Amino acid sequence: MKEIEKILQEESNRCLKCKNSPCKNGCPINTPIPEIITLFQNKEYEKAGEILFENNPMSLICSLVCSFESQCMGSCIRGIKGKSVDFPKIENFLMKKYLEENEEKTVENKNKNKNKNKNKKIAVIGSGSAGLAGAFNLANNGYDVTVYDNNEKIGGMFRYGIPEFRLAKTNIDLLEKKINDSYKFVNNTSFNIEKISELKNTYDAVLISTGTWTPKELKIEGMELEHVSYAIDYLKNNINFGKNKKVVVIGAGNVAMDAARTAKRQGNDVVIAYRRDIESSPATKVEIEDSLGDGVKFLTFVSPVKIVPEGIILERTYYDDNNKLQNIKNSQFLYSCNNVIIAVSQTSEFSLELLEKNSISNENGYFYAGDLVSGPETVVKASLSGKNNAKLIDNYLTKKGESYV
Ligand code: SF4
Repeated sequence: MKEIEKILQEESNRCLKCKNSPCKNGCPINTPIPEIITLFQNKEYEKAGEILFENNPMSLICSLVCSFESQCMGSCIRGIKGKSVDFPKIENFLMKKYLEENEEKTVENKNKNKNKNKNKKIAVIGSGSAGLAGAFNLANNGYDVTVYDNNEKIGGMFRYGIPEFRLAKTNIDLLEKKINDSYKFVNNTSFNIEKISELKNTYDAVLISTGTWTPKELKIEGMELEHVSYAIDYLKNNINFGKNKKVVVIGAGNVAMDAARTAKRQGNDVVIAYRRDIESSPATKVEIEDSLGDGVKFLTFVSPVKIVPEGIILERTYYDDNNKLQNIKNSQFLYSCNNVIIAVSQTSEFSLELLEKNSISNENGYFYAGDLVSGPETVVKASLSGKNNAKLIDNYLTKKGESYV
């Protein structure tokens, strides 16, 4: 037995197989954790991998980037008095093994329903977590699925928005090899409202999962200056400022942490400037700890006022007696820096209102999934949304004319 396998087998023996499975309930996509751990202990690796993959085709990605501390591990009974069972490591082992050993067995080859719905064509726009989970589940039900994406490769935000040190691209490539034969992939293709409307001339249903790629603007002066970038563009385009620059990141969510850690690893002095205290940051505790571990600094209780060629003007903030955040008058100061990265969330290119106004709606066979609906969310939540929408589309196509929800 390999060393890692031995360590994980020992870890799995700490599982109490709790009857009410709090770990499973704490997982957004209800991964059957105790069942998987039992299969792992019995060395039924392929079966365990198959269950994980069928439940959540993003399982390998989730095993690396999920917010474990607030989900499976945060709910684990073992964690009350000590250390939670490290299920993500077991999941990672199983998924890597499953995908590596089953590359040639395509979903189509295994698909029992492959002739059931083969005359029904479905378009999926966007190949991020929601789109891929939707496409996988629809293909598994025998539908003829085509996935469109405006990037060259599949993966959307988890390929282009999560840096290599958090999610190595080899994992995405492994998933791609396994999943690619279940649908046709059309890359480098973007859509506007008119093009989306036209899809119904060719397809029986359309799943729109275009994500949130438009950075939210910071409405302050100086945004047009050359040393200002948006975090999502910075990450997607692998921008490198060069070494020994002073970089300020505005915002404190997970994307801000990813941008800050990337800039730090490029050899820069990086500060995250945030209006509140670190504890109020929307980033996960682990992300904050990892950022600190990488040497990223935090400047809290400051609000951006204006970007100037020498850096950024910040203003100090505080909580008043009603716990409301207030700016401190006459507290503005120049924070000198070479680059400013804006990371105050992203929004979608199309609003749901705009889509509905153009009859791109459920009644007409259009479904929406993932971040487009929820705003920027985790890989696992987007995967669940894609899976749920695949069910809605199946109901829509098999019970047309009846209620399908
Ligand atoms: S909560 Fe923890 S100990 Fe209980 S079944 Fe889940 S992983 Fe095992």
